[in-house]
Amino acid sequence: MRLLFASSEIFPLVKTGGLADVAGALPAALAAEGLDVRLLMPAYRSLPGRGDCPEIARLGDPFGRGDTIIRESRLPGTDIPLWLVDNPALFDRDGSLYQDDSGRDWPDNDIRFGLLGWAAARLSQVNSPLGWVPDILHLHDWQTALAAPYLRAWGGQIPGIVFTIHNMAYQGCFAPDLVPRLGLPWSFYTMDGFEYWSQISYLKAGLVYADRLTTVSPTYAREIQSPAFGFGLDGVLANRAADLSGILNGADYSVWDPSIDPHLPCRYDAASVSEGKAANKARLQQDMGLPERPDAPLFAAVTRLSDQKGIDLLLSVMPSVIAQGAQFALLGSGERWLEDAFTAMARSCPETVAVHLGYSEEFAHRLQAAADFVLMPSRFEPCGLTQIYAMRYGTLPVVQRTGGLADTVVDATYDAMLAGTATGLVFEPPSSGALQWCIERAIGLYRNRAQMERIQSTGMRQDFGWDRAARQYIALYDGLRPGRRHGTGGEAR
Ligand code: ADP
Repeated sequence: MRLLFASSEIFPLVKTGGLADVAGALPAALAAEGLDVRLLMPAYRSLPGRGDCPEIARLGDPFGRGDTIIRESRLPGTDIPLWLVDNPALFDRDGSLYQDDSGRDWPDNDIRFGLLGWAAARLSQVNSPLGWVPDILHLHDWQTALAAPYLRAWGGQIPGIVFTIHNMAYQGCFAPDLVPRLGLPWSFYTMDGFEYWSQISYLKAGLVYADRLTTVSPTYAREIQSPAFGFGLDGVLANRAADLSGILNGADYSVWDPSIDPHLPCRYDAASVSEGKAANKARLQQDMGLPERPDAPLFAAVTRLSDQKGIDLLLSVMPSVIAQGAQFALLGSGERWLEDAFTAMARSCPETVAVHLGYSEEFAHRLQAAADFVLMPSRFEPCGLTQIYAMRYGTLPVVQRTGGLADTVVDATYDAMLAGTATGLVFEPPSSGALQWCIERAIGLYRNRAQMERIQSTGMRQDFGWDRAARQYIALYDGLRPGRRHGTGGEAR
């Protein structure tokens, strides 16, 4: 089976969040199951050696922004071909993937990711200039979603299209004058097409024009069909419920495992977890300027600082965390007011709160190893990877019961403790009261070493490897192979 897998970020090349981790690991798991996989991503300036990659096709200039070239590289550590969409006017620039240095979305994101979707569609046509035609096109999030309406509009024989939602909060909505500029038909600009409150919504385009929809956990698949989680598209999703499924993300244990992690001052495994974590904790306390106190429960958060992540709740319970003799270490970046508030808190409580603003892969690993608890008070969480990594590091996740957090963490209730199935602490609803109570439970647990160690070792034994998810995706792809599809003859819905 030939699979074209398109994503706007891929670990370890470029990453802003969990999407990159998925796009860096799932293709390799699919290739290991025998699929012929090709990856597609923009040739961002930050990609090392991109200019040296051989040119394998010229796609022309569909939007008047200069020629688009396809270059071929490889996904690091594998021999999976990585096709880079090289358009210097759109992708060769400083700043982050989606925003400029001052944190504003690039004003031409509509065309940048319009082109990515267009290129994915063009390379999926029977007359692709590459002479390799996928059976399945797998699209991820709004940045690649336009490939679906392009293929429907162009017609002819097209691959099965799978669209995976990593987060409903990011939709890619733009002014409708874009429809003709992108060469898409006005007939798709309707309520049943990609029109959304008088804008074109790239996310909705994926939801409407793909054959199958997936999201990254079973609970989130249910949640997004309700108004509270659907960001206005719950009706569209409910209409497509028969085509929508939740496939839980995995963890790449070749990257996230404390026994082989090159970022850690001290590596450890299940047999040496207590000593290993103590050593990592001491080093982190030193490096972050916290007093070296082995007895203080260390809570950590590794996160984007956004409303989704419930970071404001964390801020409001900090005084109580501090009063109970715990420490808190944050690695994150995002909304300015949250960055400022945590910086101020660290300044006024240097004995207990330490903050590292910015993005650091190394520091993320070190925090996972050093912390006793990782806090994720998310209001919604499509899957969440941080809690899955935490378990492997013997760090107890403290999570709000939503989305993938609900699907991966087993709360340390009395029954779960007796059964030996507990892997963390779960609370609801997403309120500061419920979070504070849960943190108090965590601190109580921390004082009971035997119970704490039992939960740690259950967590470390969990296997969220990608092979399970890969097999579920393959079953889905299989149902879309030519002859097995229904209702998708290349016509617009
Ligand atoms: P999301 O994709 O919503 O940001 P996930 O939990 O699915 O959340 O994935 C987050 C990923 O991003 C994890 O690999 C986590 O380690 C990483 N991450 C988040 N914030 C930072 C940061 N400031 N520095 C380094 N890694 C980070």
